[in-house]
Amino acid sequence: MAKEMYVCNECGKHTPLVQKFDNLTNGVEHHYAECQSCGYRSTIFYTNSEIKALMYQQKKTAFFTKKKERLTKKIQTLMGDLKNEIEANSHE
Ligand SMILES: [Zn+2]
Repeated sequence: MAKEMYVCNECGKHTPLVQKFDNLTNGVEHHYAECQSCGYRSTIFYTNSEIKALMYQQKKTAFFTKKKERLTKKIQTLMGDLKNEIEANSHE
């Protein structure tokens, strides 16, 4: 089966999208795709136990409802905050 491809931000080559994840400190998971040409890791998202619990709730919630919309927004906000926090710390 053909894998989904993406363009690497680092070397600009097409590479298969193989999603992997690492466990970071404080229960944070870093989900990323690794370039097969240069090994550069493109971040897909970061998650933690709070976000995972919300994602689980969101999955169980019916489509096109206010509740699902609210959960989706909340997850996006938390993921954005988490990403900013981690990336700010990694440049120290
Ligand atoms: Zn690359």
